Amino acid sequence: MKKINKEIVIDTIPIRDKDTYKNKMGRILCVGGTHEKGGAIIMSGLAALYSGAGLVTVATDQVNRTSLHTHAPEIMFIDMYESDNLIEAVKEKDVIVIGPGLGLTEKSREVLKTVLQSASGEQYLIIDADAITLLAEGKVKRETNGHCIFTPHLGEWQRLIGLNKNKLTVESNQQAQKDLQSIVVLKGSPTQVYVDSDVFENTTGNPSQATGGMGDTLTGILAGFIGQIPNVKQAILSAVFIHSYIADQLAETHYVTLPTQVIRELPKVMRNFA
Ligand code: AMP
Ligand code: MG
Repeated sequence: MKKINKEIVIDTIPIRDKDTYKNKMGRILCVGGTHEKGGAIIMSGLAALYSGAGLVTVATDQVNRTSLHTHAPEIMFIDMYESDNLIEAVKEKDVIVIGPGLGLTEKSREVLKTVLQSASGEQYLIIDADAITLLAEGKVKRETNGHCIFTPHLGEWQRLIGLNKNKLTVESNQQAQKDLQSIVVLKGSPTQVYVDSDVFENTTGNPSQATGGMGDTLTGILAGFIGQIPNVKQAILSAVFIHSYIADQLAETHYVTLPTQVIRELPKVMRNFA
């Protein structure tokens, strides 16, 4: 198994061209956040913004709008339940995150269906959290023209592929990744990345990260990096590394690491790697 280490990030985060502009730095849409779980999609959107995405939109429940703009006036808002607007928003983006705080209701299923059906072959979909659970339930078909990146934790992964923990091996995970025709970021300690025929193991991460919202934050970093870095594989490996690298640094002086702390450190740490 290959290791994800510092060198991968150093080689990946580019120095920006002098004449670059926001449309070239990744147009990101983060979809999720019921009225109870708005924080999840706000953290995803914030992480995309702080990792350098040029334009970030969050599609969520109306009730989360004020909170979103209080945290980041830079992020645009749309109502995820207005399907015409959602379809239009999906079509004009480079990367779409779907799932954090999305919920498991009939309305959540409709949102997921709309996103999957509207995505095209040029686009990347990061499928996380409730979106994975909804697909595992089988009531929404896993059909899309977009490129899929699944980001399950172990429980979501077991649900999605229908194998229990003691049946999981690197080989069974690789087989499932092949069947899904996707990239898989299997979160844990450590996180593993299944891409093409390769398996990578992350070398950063620690128990201070065992906090709600940590995975939602990773989705935003992945989206931000894929939006800016042409080599998608490198972008994903670097996002996984840097998310936990920041947490490792914070853990030297902090007992727990909050996702919002990781988010705030992103621009500074990225500057050091560029
Ligand atoms: P989620 O369960 O979706 O919130 O994702 C949790 C995130 O935090 C993943 O990126 C995990 O790799 C990371 N994480 C949580 N607990 C640990 C741990 N004990 N060691 C390393 N990473 C962890
Ligand atoms: Mg999660």
